[in-house]
Amino acid sequence: MKLLLPVLSLFITLSLSAQELKSPSEFLGYELGTRFTRHHQVVDYYQYLSEAAKDRVQLNEYGKTNENRPLLLAYISSTANMANLEAIREEHLKSTSGTSNSTKAIVWLSYNVHGNESVSTEASMQTIYALLTSKQAYLENTIIIMDPCINPDGRDRYVNWYNQYKNTPNQLNPASKEHHEGWWNGRSNHYMFDLNRDWAWLTQLESRQRLRYYNKWLPHIHVDFHEQSMDSPYYFAPASEPFHEVITDFQRDFQVTIGKNHAKYFDANGWFYFTKERFDLFYPSYGDTYPTYNGAIGMTYEQGGGGRAGLGVITGNGDTLTLKDRIAHHFTTGISTVEVAANNVKRLNEEYQKFYRSKNYRYKSFILNGQEDHLKALTQLLDQHQLIYSYGTGATVKGFNYKTGKTGSLKTNAQSIIISTDQTRGTLAKVLFEPNAKLSDSLTYDITAWSLPYAYGLDAIASESLISGTSKTENSAQKEALKANAYAFLTDWNGMDDARFLAELLQKKIRVRQAQKPFTLEGKRHNRGSLIITKADNDNKMEFTKILSGIAEKHHKSLTAVNTGFVDKGKDFGSGYVKMIPAVKVAVLAGEPTSTLRFGEIWHFFEQQLHYPLTVLDENYIGGVDLSNYDVLILPGGDGYESFMDDSMLAKLKEWVNQGGRLIAMGKSIASLDGENGFDISAREKEIDSTVNLVEPYENLRREKMKNDITGAIFKTKVDQTHPLAFGYKDTYFSLKLGSDAFNYLENGTVAYISKDTSPVAGFAGSEAQKKMSKSLVFGVEKHRKGQVVYMIDNPLFRGFWENGKLFFVNALFMAN
Ligand SMILES: [Zn+2]
Repeated sequence: MKLLLPVLSLFITLSLSAQELKSPSEFLGYELGTRFTRHHQVVDYYQYLSEAAKDRVQLNEYGKTNENRPLLLAYISSTANMANLEAIREEHLKSTSGTSNSTKAIVWLSYNVHGNESVSTEASMQTIYALLTSKQAYLENTIIIMDPCINPDGRDRYVNWYNQYKNTPNQLNPASKEHHEGWWNGRSNHYMFDLNRDWAWLTQLESRQRLRYYNKWLPHIHVDFHEQSMDSPYYFAPASEPFHEVITDFQRDFQVTIGKNHAKYFDANGWFYFTKERFDLFYPSYGDTYPTYNGAIGMTYEQGGGGRAGLGVITGNGDTLTLKDRIAHHFTTGISTVEVAANNVKRLNEEYQKFYRSKNYRYKSFILNGQEDHLKALTQLLDQHQLIYSYGTGATVKGFNYKTGKTGSLKTNAQSIIISTDQTRGTLAKVLFEPNAKLSDSLTYDITAWSLPYAYGLDAIASESLISGTSKTENSAQKEALKANAYAFLTDWNGMDDARFLAELLQKKIRVRQAQKPFTLEGKRHNRGSLIITKADNDNKMEFTKILSGIAEKHHKSLTAVNTGFVDKGKDFGSGYVKMIPAVKVAVLAGEPTSTLRFGEIWHFFEQQLHYPLTVLDENYIGGVDLSNYDVLILPGGDGYESFMDDSMLAKLKEWVNQGGRLIAMGKSIASLDGENGFDISAREKEIDSTVNLVEPYENLRREKMKNDITGAIFKTKVDQTHPLAFGYKDTYFSLKLGSDAFNYLENGTVAYISKDTSPVAGFAGSEAQKKMSKSLVFGVEKHRKGQVVYMIDNPLFRGFWENGKLFFVNALFMAN
């Protein structure tokens, strides 16, 4: 007995220290899975762990959301590893240059990118607790980086909504309100952007802040935890075809290794799952593909449930799916992923180094010319992706010409940008810049084209030889103060810097004119759309030149001062061809049937890109709003506009347009304006399709029907440069087409259009859909008495990344009548 006592007391001490670390349930005061945890409570739990287990957990607040919630990363590993974390990171990153001796696996687990896929964050707490207690052994050779919630604003939107609407006790009947989130659902971030489409474009605050840290680590494995419809049980790797061609055999194989390990646990529990379906690896802006194109095993895991499931719900099979079940599944795959990593450290490190060895891609360099602010916007994106570029030397380069689709050449200059695939991130460079990504299967989950030279409106060559450039010589031009006595100040109109400059001038009540025709003055040619800011228009303004020069400097605009309005060629400044730009009051339609994504793109554009005020009018009260208070009304588009656009709404809008209003109809709102009582726009009739074989075997029908579809492809369009909607554009514009809806040319005001050449320059467009595109409208303006309707069939604000389309939208707002 005496001998046993010390052993017993040792046992008591050990179990006490294990008990010292509180589980999520103990810390939160309720059993995990019995209610949803608000984000601030999640933060509290992670903070608690970083104190209670500070030798094994470090917490890093990497930013804040739009609604000011903290964004967190937790680093978890053994005490010895944590003491050496920075050295481990540096050794790991050496793998990207092929000389590392790293002996650790780096696993990054991202939770709840879609806010209403709310189980993820709950599961993250269970996972980190297990890693610090029962699964500690994995920490010896593995660093785990956990982002407990990528999208706190969206998640709290869902959680708060659910808490307000849930029955007590919660109602399992899927018909009950707690299973039907409204229009303003929690999936997206504050601006209704889908953060799982933003990894490559970085339009959103959360993405930009996260990527800075992701790039510091470039993990071996990245998991993005999601939820899918409640009747689909669980999806994990391996992914579905199409796989992008840059994905290596090892990346494919290791997805299978991980998937089989998960299957072992799911089988043992009798849980259902599927693999190799639905979730492909192609579009580069996902949380699985972006990591994959940077050498990781990038995976999406999808639990059934999402915004429908609440705390519990009866599924289509009659089974009950609870939040606890959902936690158990995501917990299991999370731990299983870490287990596979911990058991394959050597292999992961070897293969990761292989990924970063230089590859023999067909195109070695991409050479880009264009407007200064387009190039600048692109270099800002490249910097965030740590893609290295150089500048032109004046040499002429040959290769594939993006504009013509043929072999051609381009003369570089000091502004030209050269991006090579012969660099650490060469694979990412290839994916983002190659003219047309190779698509092994047209059945894909997302858009099939994104090539950045088209998105940024740049002249480009893809070269099969390596082109070297030079580093930039800083242009230290002396800045001159604006002449107080000048007659007018002039500047060009090419891109978003100009648009922001104008938007601020208008808000500071500075009056601005716009040249409707090109002109030459004091030996310099100015294009259509050039801004003319005269002293006479602004002589009531104290310190006009001081305010003007301040705003110009802020937006990187250089102004040309002129002493006369008497032009050498073109129209003088007092001509009717030099029009005052109206400081328009703009409203946008929100609520059903507008898509939250389409609405969010516009909202974000006004507040975070253009910086111009926007009034939001909801569909449930717009009928009673006096529209004469607004100059511009935007219909963002969505499914079901026909029911919104009843005869009384159509009459109201028509009368407002007659009185001088401007309606901007986008995407799927447009068809609702077609018809007997509508406007002039007319949808292309659906031709009876003789080649789609409807008696194909049932299982082939979906593929057969792809002939009618366009899944996000890039088309070459022609542009009428003389129209104010096209000021700042050249005669060709590459448009991202997101569907096969087609409209006829307008009788007047066909501004951007597809002519006869209907094959996309990149991406997938079905054979029948292509035929339908012949002679179809892309952007146009219909005059209607004193007002106008602007049609934007293609969406230039889609996901905020089609930089070259944005000026069309700005023109639609500000062009003079
Ligand atoms: Zn999701």
